[in-house]
Amino acid sequence: MRYVSTRGGVADLSFCDAVMMGLASDGGLLVPESIPDFRDELDDLSSLGYTAIAERVMRRFIDDIPSDALADLIKRSYATFDDPRVTPLVQPSADYHVLELFHGPTLAFKDVALQFLGNIFEYVLARDGGHLNILGATSGDTGSAAIAGVRGKSGINIFIMFPEGKTSALQEKQMTSVLDENVQNLAIEGSFDDCQSILKAVFNDLPFKDRHQMGAVNSVNWARVLAQVVYYFVAWVQLGSPAAFQVAVPTGNFGNIFAGYIARKMGLPISTLILATNQNDILDRFFRTGRYERGEVHFTHSPAMDIQVASNFERYLYYEMGQDPAKVSAFMQDFQTTGSAGINFNTLNFDAAFRSGSASDAEILATISETYAADDYLLDPHTAVGVKVGMELKREDGPLVCMATAHPAKFDDVMAKALPEVEVTHPTLAALADAETRKTVLPAEVETVQAFIEQFNAR
Ligand SMILES: *Cc1c(COP(=O)(O)O)cnc(C)c1O
Repeated sequence: MRYVSTRGGVADLSFCDAVMMGLASDGGLLVPESIPDFRDELDDLSSLGYTAIAERVMRRFIDDIPSDALADLIKRSYATFDDPRVTPLVQPSADYHVLELFHGPTLAFKDVALQFLGNIFEYVLARDGGHLNILGATSGDTGSAAIAGVRGKSGINIFIMFPEGKTSALQEKQMTSVLDENVQNLAIEGSFDDCQSILKAVFNDLPFKDRHQMGAVNSVNWARVLAQVVYYFVAWVQLGSPAAFQVAVPTGNFGNIFAGYIARKMGLPISTLILATNQNDILDRFFRTGRYERGEVHFTHSPAMDIQVASNFERYLYYEMGQDPAKVSAFMQDFQTTGSAGINFNTLNFDAAFRSGSASDAEILATISETYAADDYLLDPHTAVGVKVGMELKREDGPLVCMATAHPAKFDDVMAKALPEVEVTHPTLAALADAETRKTVLPAEVETVQAFIEQFNAR
């Protein structure tokens, strides 16, 4: 399988090259040049567990890692999960199932992708030589999953910036309690926007970037999408391989649901892809009107979805626009210059499998408490968005699977609002209370962060 850019300026990359490049060098996103037809292999999956299914699915996209090495990478990536099924399917009520994606080390679905990505990085660096300095900025959730993905890996250092005193105490603890030598938590004396500006400035300093082999773990890395494609197949197998099923996906950067779209294109019988946003509803508006239009960012009870521009969306456009880079570039150009771009669903024959809706903060709280009362099941606030919209929009077309993207104990403040009488805990998080921590407080200055990275690497 070869990889190309959605903007047409990069072609003929292998899987590992695409992973190491991350964002395409022409500003587009890397995608497989075709989507494999998996229908012939579906019947073989029914007796297989998570890692065996992952091998079968990923093999179709990866031809530059030998089979036994890939099998080993997959095994190690999911051995860190606390359930042998990796992503267990549960059924709180007759109306819907829940695929629990939060059994990884940081209790959020990003572990599924980042545990795999960390191992791929380590594998390629060991094979080809070199090292990688990963720099990231986080307002909370992604940082700890990225750290957990690369902690202790040789050839890789990770530097995660977060705004000092502005992330939740729990999120800070999840990051700063990782004491591996190759993990550096940088508490920046400023806002999350300051952290992001520093990140941009460091990556725009090309001599510095090259000298230190700076890399990112952003949500656009193809390996992250591929790792997520797997659990749609796993969900189907756990359902008993029905003729059709529907999925409801709480959506921010369009990464999770895009993986479902790829699985569907491979031939997995997903009848309906239900896209659920919070009050940041740019994607919901697109799927209802055909217009992609930037709005203001709202801070909601489901913070991991407080996103205005969905970075993976361009990949979807690419396939829906007939893999035509000129059309994608024109659309993105329009959007970047005016903050708004549109398509006509009727003339372009866009995929009708998508339905979309959104949930307000009040609806999130109501869904959490109603579900607990009726089904005795705890939804985290992100999962609640998917359940609310999924129940509203599902059709008579096979069972509904709602994707659960975080363990509720991660968002104990929102849970306390929805269910003040219920204590929501998890042993991993409880253990953090007495954990030793380490962080370095730095002023919000590009040069200081660069100097820190430089000194760390000179040791
Ligand atoms: C990142 C995240 C999401 C959004 O997933 P996308 O792939 O960005 O659409 C939803 N819920 C949680 C808990 C997350 O961490």
